[in-house]
Amino acid sequence: MEKKYYDIVLDDQPSLRAKNAMVKTPLSSEDQEIIENLMLYVKDSLVEENQEKYGLKPASGLAAPQVGINKQMCVVRLEDYKDNDIIVTEYALVNPKIISHSEQLAFLGTGEGCLSVEDEHEGYVFRPARVTISAYDAISKEDVVFRARGFDAIVLQHEIDHLNGVLFYDHIDKDDPFRIKENSKEL
Ligand code: ZN
Repeated sequence: MEKKYYDIVLDDQPSLRAKNAMVKTPLSSEDQEIIENLMLYVKDSLVEENQEKYGLKPASGLAAPQVGINKQMCVVRLEDYKDNDIIVTEYALVNPKIISHSEQLAFLGTGEGCLSVEDEHEGYVFRPARVTISAYDAISKEDVVFRARGFDAIVLQHEIDHLNGVLFYDHIDKDDPFRIKENSKEL
């Protein structure tokens, strides 16, 4: 496989708002390479010296349209520190769909950020606190259905939004960006 770091597309470019094609599974070698390079970017972007060396911006997730590829593929990587161990949770999803979600909402107290968004967009983004997702998992190479909650659920929904041409600030209430919605909890 040819390893490479993709360039990130910013939100003034049409590919972030374009339609993203469903991907045939199991993946072709070309599509497998794309999703592995998305994973590579996110993994290496979390290492400080790479950020400077390769110009990577630290990311918890990345979706194919963010690198100019309009296909239904996205990755998420979460690193949690417990004592001296790093616990890594990694998702590499193809054609992901939210098939059900909680009524309860959650939001990040710091607001959301995005590699494709450089301008400041302040305000809370409310999302279902818990989601059930179906997808083809490019790591286990099988169809999966799984539940996510907490920060995982927020990041996964942010990435799946990209596959529908939606950016986090589309969700911010322009008139009252910091109004706390009922039935929501801060993360
Ligand atoms: Zn994003």
